[in-house]
Amino acid sequence: MTSVAVVGAGVIGLSCARELARAGVDDVVVLERQGQVAQGSTSRANGGFRAQFTTAPNVAFSLWSIGELERLEAATGLLSMHQTGYLLFTGTPEGERGLRAGYELQRSLGVATEWLSAAEILERAPFVRPDGLLAGTFHARDGMLDPYGVARSMEREARALGVRIVTGAEVQAIGRIGDDFEVEHQGGVVRSSWLVNAAGSDAREVGAMLVVEVPVTPYRRNLAFAPDPTHAGELISMCVDLDTGVLVRREPGGGYVIAYSNPADPPSRETSVDPAFLGDVAERIGNRFPFLEDVPIDVDACWAGLYPETPDHHAIVGETPEAPRFLQCVGFGGHGIMHAPAAGRAIAELVTLGRSETFDLRPLRLSRFAEDDLVVETAVL
Ligand SMILES: Cc1cc2nc3c(=O)[nH]c(=O)nc-3n(C[C@H](O)[C@H](O)[C@H](O)COP(=O)(O)OP(=O)(O)OC[C@H]3O[C@@H](n4cnc5c(N)ncnc54)[C@H](O)[C@@H]3O)c2cc1C
Repeated sequence: MTSVAVVGAGVIGLSCARELARAGVDDVVVLERQGQVAQGSTSRANGGFRAQFTTAPNVAFSLWSIGELERLEAATGLLSMHQTGYLLFTGTPEGERGLRAGYELQRSLGVATEWLSAAEILERAPFVRPDGLLAGTFHARDGMLDPYGVARSMEREARALGVRIVTGAEVQAIGRIGDDFEVEHQGGVVRSSWLVNAAGSDAREVGAMLVVEVPVTPYRRNLAFAPDPTHAGELISMCVDLDTGVLVRREPGGGYVIAYSNPADPPSRETSVDPAFLGDVAERIGNRFPFLEDVPIDVDACWAGLYPETPDHHAIVGETPEAPRFLQCVGFGGHGIMHAPAAGRAIAELVTLGRSETFDLRPLRLSRFAEDDLVVETAVL
């Protein structure tokens, strides 16, 4: 009989469990170190989702996931999903070339991304500083949601389908008995015929328990909140100034969430807000969002968490060559919430069919790092 143990009850592990159960696997257990589900990166996310990526595997994961998130929201109402679109723009010729390449790839893969002139960007976002603005793109099915709501809706369905979720169960050692896995955790031992690594920022450590090198590295990422009650209830698109890397969205209750990921930040497991982040934002925010220069940041309402990153900004999804039936579903960086549905589906297909029918998983295989066969995602936000 097929049995699957999943390490980690973040959005990725919960999605894997839900999709496995939906695919008919009736013995699925999720082992989570914390006392509750989704207390790692998942609960720290900004909640953006977009199909506007620059590589085929990321666009494919987004497109499939957006459809599934729409269905989940309709079925559960737990996602607080707002399809406000992502609005990306640039004022440099180099930025425009990159945007054009992404736009053409997305269109070729069936995403209805729109190309916008400077005037059309300003129609959608009149608060953007217009000087030197060259071009933008917009995709209406992109938007924002509540990351915890996604995790909870997946948890609920997984449990209803018979998945066991064990909290307070840190996995400490993994052995093999014949073809099976023996997973030792804080509260006991689980035996399974398949094992899924969904340990987020701890994926490397879980891989090492079976002497597998999993190149996932945590980076601290921060979000700032600027309270402003004047526009409460009026949402805007997720606005992305590609020339500085600053993202701005409005909260449903009013105020702005501001994101910026400094590519020079070193790896870190620290989850308190980095004081340098506020300086980075202050330097860049005026480039396209001058109105926010005058809105003070509420330092106590800022937060931070970890991006589980890989060297090419793509997840690792698939078999482990040296450890059959040990599946990796890790390294989702800043797009794990939005790609969770597709990730879960891919894992369920690997277990039940031996291959993925829905996705081409070759670009996401673990061995690409050893083979030096990487395609790098550049729309890293
Ligand atoms: C500031 C910030 C903003 C972000 N914004 C977005 C966004 O807008 N959109 C988006 O899609 N993504 C966003 N992300 C990224 C997203 O949060 C992650 O990609 C996603 O949550 C990864 O999910 P996960 O399940 O892999 O990891 P996690 O949520 O960290 O879950 C992993 C789980 O594994 C458990 N675990 C680890 N080791 C063990 C062990 N040995 N035994 C048992 N359990 C273990 C952990 O306790 C944890 O609960 C953001 C992240 C941050 C920090």
